[in-house]
Amino acid sequence: VATRMRGLQQSALGAMTVRCQELGALNLAQGLSQVPPPASLLAEGAREFETVGHSYSQPEGLAVFREAVAGKLKRSSGLSVEPTTQVLATVGATGALMATLTALLDPGDGVVLFEPFYSYYLSSLQVLNLRPEPVRLTGPGFRIAEESLRAAITERTRAMIVCTPNNPTGRRLTAAELKIVSAVAEEHDLLVITDEVYEDIYFGPDPHLAAATVGGLAERTVTLGSLGKSFSVPGWRLGYACGPERLIGAIRIAADSLVVCAPAPLQALGARALNLDDDYYRGFRAMYDRKRRLLAEGFAAAGLSPNEPEGAYYLFVDCSRMGVPSGVAAAERLLENGLVGTVPGEAFYLNPPDRPYVRACFSVPDDVLAEAVDRLASGDFLHG
Ligand code: PMP
Repeated sequence: VATRMRGLQQSALGAMTVRCQELGALNLAQGLSQVPPPASLLAEGAREFETVGHSYSQPEGLAVFREAVAGKLKRSSGLSVEPTTQVLATVGATGALMATLTALLDPGDGVVLFEPFYSYYLSSLQVLNLRPEPVRLTGPGFRIAEESLRAAITERTRAMIVCTPNNPTGRRLTAAELKIVSAVAEEHDLLVITDEVYEDIYFGPDPHLAAATVGGLAERTVTLGSLGKSFSVPGWRLGYACGPERLIGAIRIAADSLVVCAPAPLQALGARALNLDDDYYRGFRAMYDRKRRLLAEGFAAAGLSPNEPEGAYYLFVDCSRMGVPSGVAAAERLLENGLVGTVPGEAFYLNPPDRPYVRACFSVPDDVLAEAVDRLASGDFLHG
């Protein structure tokens, strides 16, 4: 086994899923997306497959898919990308990230991660021998502070990864925060990778703010997206990378070497999904808004402090009132005393978090949520 695999193991998320199965617990750990995809879309599937066939697409993806991505980004956030040269179909957002890191960074290069971060960033960096440079988000609001970002930049720093709306905090980056990112990136000539897989899941009236629409970011930013989140089809493994032609051109070559292309028949169906009208997206957000409130009530009834996410489909719950030393202990107590599975906050940090956090996913059916709320409201979680 290669040295780069040292320390890589089954993710905390996967491990919790196994424990939930063993104990018969409700699994709010992994974003398994048990929410069904839009029925109209699936009804089109067979016909679409017949038309496009079952072969490969070009490495960059089907034209119809790339056009749909460009149109959708324009409508949802005003982000302008040219479909033939600035959009690449990928094997999920994960495939987009791997191809981006492979194409644009060399072993040993430093990559800034804002802590807490989506745990796959760390494992992706590790398998490519890249160096994580964590920057702690500040305060209960998990904001980017300019001083801590500047303090983390080293001689080796080449890139930053941001995520908005954020997994696990549910925060959406503000224009002010993105301007800090833009200024520091320009000053140190850094690549910016922005993970916007949750761009369609936000609460409140303000539309999605795409990083690449702020300051000078467009020319140095690769935007990652996924159909898995927006259309509840994570198993399709379909996503995209967008950005300047010189970057996307190199990423396309890396992606071709890694995986040839994204699933071609699903790209055709994906184009239909991306073209769904505003009613779909509005209903989708309303559904998650309802689920988020429901689960938050459960944690509050348990005496814990859930955050109020601005987007994505997770609660990041401060379990300080349990009096436990870590998120690991908090997750364990939720599991043992209530048969509710969550992810310990530590899974999203390189250095230990300052509070015992757990992350709970609300992308689950209403009956599972209702049962979780019952268990949270009736269990004793504040005493060991
Ligand atoms: N980025 C974030 C922030 C995520 O939460 C996830 C899924 N959990 C992904 C990327 C992965 O997306 P995909 O399934 O398209 O690879």
